[in-house]
Amino acid sequence: MKLQVTPARPASAESAGVLLQLKNFPRAIGCDLGGTNLKLVRLGPSGLEATSESPTPGPTTASAMIRAITGQVKAMLPKSQGHWPLGIAVPGFLDESRERIVRLSNLPALSGVALGHEVARKLRRVGAILDADTNAAAHAEATVGSGGGKGRVLYVTMGTGLGAALVVAGEIVRVSRHTVGQVAHLPLGERGHRCYCGAVGCAETLLSARGILLRARRSGIAKASSTLELFELATRRGPRRARATRLWRETGGVLGKLLQILAALFSPDRIVIGGGVAGAAELFLPDARAWLSRSLTPALSPEVSVEAAALGRFSGAIGAALLAARVDRA
Ligand SMILES: [Zn+2]
Repeated sequence: MKLQVTPARPASAESAGVLLQLKNFPRAIGCDLGGTNLKLVRLGPSGLEATSESPTPGPTTASAMIRAITGQVKAMLPKSQGHWPLGIAVPGFLDESRERIVRLSNLPALSGVALGHEVARKLRRVGAILDADTNAAAHAEATVGSGGGKGRVLYVTMGTGLGAALVVAGEIVRVSRHTVGQVAHLPLGERGHRCYCGAVGCAETLLSARGILLRARRSGIAKASSTLELFELATRRGPRRARATRLWRETGGVLGKLLQILAALFSPDRIVIGGGVAGAAELFLPDARAWLSRSLTPALSPEVSVEAAALGRFSGAIGAALLAARVDRA
C-alpha cells in the first residue's frame, strides 16, 4: 500500500481559515476508516499539521487491517514526542462501551474487533478511542466547522449512504447504537427504488450519492457516473444542463422534506450538510432552505439555518482527533 504523508494541507479552502483561527489546538491523531479510503490527520498547536490518505485494503483479515491502520498511524507520529491520543472513526455500529465494532458492512473482517485496543497494543505511545464516522464529522463541524458555535447542531451527511448526528452543547447525542436513529430509512413519501431494508422511498434511496445517480438515470441523464459529473453537467453549457439542474433542484426539495422532519424532532439551531454530495450544495441547498422556511412552524423552530459543511473530506478524521484529545484530557 502506498503511503503519503503530506505537509499541512487544508481539506478545503474554508477549513484553512477555520483551523488556523484556533489557538492552543489539542495534540491528537485522527483516523477515518472508510470503505474506500483511510484518511488520517495530525492536529497540533498550529492546527492541521499533516494529512494522509491511502486506499483501504481490499477484502482481507482483521489482523491485516489492524496492521495497515497501525502502519499509517505510526507514520503520522512525530518521532520524539511521547504519548498521543488517537481517534478512529468507523462506518458502522459500536458496542455500548464503544470499544468493540459490532458490525461494519463494508469491512466485515473488523466486525467484533476491539480496534482501538488492538492498535494501541501495537503502538504503545497511543491511547485510542472509537466512534461512528458520522458522529466524528458532526463533532468536527459543530466545534470548528460550519456549526458556528451554535448550541444545537444537526449534521446530515450525504455520501455513499445517508446519516445524521446531533451535537448539543458540544456533546454527541446518542439515542440508539450511538446514533440519533435510522435517519437513512425515514420514509419521505416519494416514489423511488427499493431500499436494502425492504421498504420503498427511504431517505437514503433518494439523497445518497447512489440514490441521486439512480434518479438521474430515471430522468434521462443516462451517462452520469458520479455526483461530481452531475454537478458539472448542471454548471457547464451542454444539452443535459437543464435536466441536471432540475434534478439538483428536486434533490433540494427532497432534502427539505427530510430536514423538516429532523428539525421537528430535534429543534436544531443550525443544520450542516456534509458528505461528498455537499460539494454540489450551491445547486440544491437553496431549494432545501426554501422548503424548510415554508414548512416549519416559526414557534417551534424560529431560527434554524442550513449551511454546507466547512471541513471537507477530512472532517471525520479531524472530529476523531478532537474527540480523542478530549477523552485524553479528561
Ligand atoms: Zn430503507
